[in-house]
Amino acid sequence: MRIETLPRFSLAHLPTPLEELPALSRQLTGPEILIKRDDQTGLALGGNKTRKLEFLLGDALQQGADTLVTLGAAQSNHCRQTAAAAAKAGMRCELILNGKRPEIANGNLLLNEILGAECHWIERSQRAAKLSELDSQLRAQGRKPYLIPVGGSNGVGATGYVVAMQELMVQLRARQHPVDHLVFGTSSGGTQAGIVLGARIAGYTGRLHGLSIDKNDPEHFAYEAEVAQIANDCATYIGSPLRVTPAEVSVIYGYKGEGYGVVGNLEREAIRLLARSEGIVLDPVYAGRAFGALVDLIRKGVFIKGETVLFWHTGGSPALFAYARELA
Ligand SMILES: *Cc1c(COP(=O)(O)O)cnc(C)c1O
Repeated sequence: MRIETLPRFSLAHLPTPLEELPALSRQLTGPEILIKRDDQTGLALGGNKTRKLEFLLGDALQQGADTLVTLGAAQSNHCRQTAAAAAKAGMRCELILNGKRPEIANGNLLLNEILGAECHWIERSQRAAKLSELDSQLRAQGRKPYLIPVGGSNGVGATGYVVAMQELMVQLRARQHPVDHLVFGTSSGGTQAGIVLGARIAGYTGRLHGLSIDKNDPEHFAYEAEVAQIANDCATYIGSPLRVTPAEVSVIYGYKGEGYGVVGNLEREAIRLLARSEGIVLDPVYAGRAFGALVDLIRKGVFIKGETVLFWHTGGSPALFAYARELA
């Protein structure tokens, strides 16, 4: 393994806190619940993309790139954090966003503008075409673009979550009380890929559950295969002989609701529950949905008293303000 010698650009405040949620655990009369605060990773209001971007920026700078190009939804946390990383590294940032520019930029979008990113609005179906067009335009201008995939989810980005698992294991060993289940939101797969690979490298023995926030059924395990592929690209990148199979990637489905980014009662209640019991803020798209699903699974007796569940808070709270109407 050569994680220590890989190019890395420092962005994150590490280690992020590992906290207990005693009031919430009591209120739900279920398992003991812990929370890993990756909403506190730093970098323009934090979130899970900070960890991935440390390795993506390391690679970009080593390749001599001067512009980061990435893509996502209008309220993409990944785009906001990429804009911040570019600013800190003295690079330019070009974002390809789905949909139409809203009249008033709020939430992550407001931050993209403040952070100085250039936003290009497109129909989602035009993504690939726009990407190659922008790439050639930038090169024609003499710039050196570095393309980061959706969510920063490739083998390079996932390295951030291999390191995060090593960080978590140090915290868990100090606690001397094992965790039975680790639960987190999953969407483009880089976080889960890093966690699954990192669990094997760091010797985590509990179970791992990615909570799909945007897919409904295990479509012939296509997503699991995608995550395993990212994990294996990551293993190659970090020089690990380990390989991950789709069967080792555990995803919980059934919580997609009305779709990606559509706020329902699950998210509304979960956001209020954690805020009012522990003073911790979730987002409506990812962590709020994943946490709402966890609460539902505790109420259904899937996670039970006597067990310990760790919820990995992946951030995203800037999007709250863009959903003010839906959350009211
Ligand atoms: C991107 C994101 C996720 C999902 O992580 P992936 O690596 O894309 O699966 C979860 N929570 C938040 C807040 C995010 O921004």
